[in-house]
Amino acid sequence: MRFEFTAEEEAFRADVCAFLQRELTPDVWRAHRDPNEQGFWTPEFTKAFRRKLGAAGYIGMGWPAEYGGGGRSRIYQTIFAEEMEYHRAPGLDRSITYVPNAILAFGSEAQKQAFLPRINRGELSWFVGYSEPEAGSDLANLQTRAEADGDAFVITGQKAFSSEAHMADYGWVAARTNVDVPKHRGISMFIVDMKSPGIRVTQVPTVAGWTHHAVYLDHVRVPRDLLVGEVDEGWSLVMGGIDFERAALAAPGLVSHQLDRLIDYCSVEQDGHAPLLDDPIVQDQLVGLSMEAEIARLMSYWVASMHAQGQRPQHETSLAVLYKRETSRLADNLGIDLLGADAPLRADSPRAKFGGEVEVEYWDHLYFQFAAGGFDITRNVIARRGLGLPR
Ligand SMILES: Cc1cc2nc3c(=O)[nH]c(=O)nc-3n(C[C@H](O)[C@H](O)[C@H](O)COP(=O)(O)OP(=O)(O)OC[C@H]3O[C@@H](n4cnc5c(N)ncnc54)[C@H](O)[C@@H]3O)c2cc1C
Repeated sequence: MRFEFTAEEEAFRADVCAFLQRELTPDVWRAHRDPNEQGFWTPEFTKAFRRKLGAAGYIGMGWPAEYGGGGRSRIYQTIFAEEMEYHRAPGLDRSITYVPNAILAFGSEAQKQAFLPRINRGELSWFVGYSEPEAGSDLANLQTRAEADGDAFVITGQKAFSSEAHMADYGWVAARTNVDVPKHRGISMFIVDMKSPGIRVTQVPTVAGWTHHAVYLDHVRVPRDLLVGEVDEGWSLVMGGIDFERAALAAPGLVSHQLDRLIDYCSVEQDGHAPLLDDPIVQDQLVGLSMEAEIARLMSYWVASMHAQGQRPQHETSLAVLYKRETSRLADNLGIDLLGADAPLRADSPRAKFGGEVEVEYWDHLYFQFAAGGFDITRNVIARRGLGLPR
């Protein structure tokens, strides 16, 4: 058992780091950060940056060469996600993590040819249309209807928590095609062109300060060739694909970033007071956080190595996401504690530390922990699939 990366993988990490440092200069941060956006960068900058990721070959590097991919192992994708998170870079979202992997796994050959090259070039933004007002944790309860009509399906319904739908070119949308079967059956998956008539995107304010979105579909016609997989078989696509999203969410760059930021803060005098690191209790807290961060990192690598060996992790991905999220909460709380009165200062305050991001992240993570299944749901997955505990 060797816990180390190859020389090529380390060189790749250095390459990604250099790219991100070159692209995300302090001037770029000042010009393009946006607290009203979910990704904290303006949509225009996020889209432009995604094209740069595509041009650098980072998006499709793990895909088969026949779809323009680089054929590299999942280890590279994990390193990439870790560095993107660490540098708080824009665009590490469903458009390059979840959707292309789902298309690769479940799409028709025509769908792969139509979408993967464009995704690989960073040209497309996506929203994922699963959740609804009455279908969150109980996703199989979704009510959005898709009815066959000649060479198309007609979709009507409402999607909730529709991350970045306002900037999406396409939706990856689950809808009910059959009401006469148990609710887990009778669901189908569609690719929906967001320029289609009948689509309305609305704004929803969040406790995190940024604006979430909801999508209303009113008799939206979707060509039959944009049905993904078989009619009524969509649930297996939802379940099969969620692992891609959870694996991306397990990337450990965020907690390393939080830890390093706190060490920086505590290393220097603040307002003429001795550095907080002089206090052994603070040192103890930071050491505790660093241990948790290290475990979160190793769990993420564990999931990546399973993928790289062609295995399909089940509860392991949930363990990794849960540990990462709990560690991140630990870092949030410690950050608020250590920064004290400096924590709530926003970016435009001359006294603000780290652009006010410690407190912004505190609220963001409070909300974001529910994405792709909250703490309870993740624990349920571990209990059932990992430990075999009864329902
Ligand atoms: C930042 C963010 C981004 C998101 N992005 C998207 C997106 O792009 N596309 C999309 O489709 N959805 C998205 N979601 C929705 C997300 O998947 C749901 O929030 C999640 O599935 C939970 O659903 P809910 O919010 O309706 O909570 P509910 O299902 O109503 O749950 C409420 C509470 O009860 C708990 N609970 C529910 N059922 C159980 C149970 N069986 N056992 C124990 N506890 C339970 C939950 O953990 C939670 O604490 C996003 C959510 C967030 C917060």
